[in-house]
Amino acid sequence: MEGICGICGAVAELNVCQACGTQVCLKCFDPKTRLCSRCMSRIGKQ
Ligand SMILES: [Zn+2]
Ligand SMILES: [Zn+2]
Repeated sequence: MEGICGICGAVAELNVCQACGTQVCLKCFDPKTRLCSRCMSRIGKQ
């Protein structure tokens, strides 16, 4: 599914953050934790 990243605004394939539900691009998403970069910096697990 393509759309606009909720963090950086890029049009890309989106992934849904497990914590906040925001749809984000791969650059703003960590597949290991399935968190967006916002939640990663907040929750703070590398
Ligand atoms: Zn992004
Ligand atoms: Zn998030």
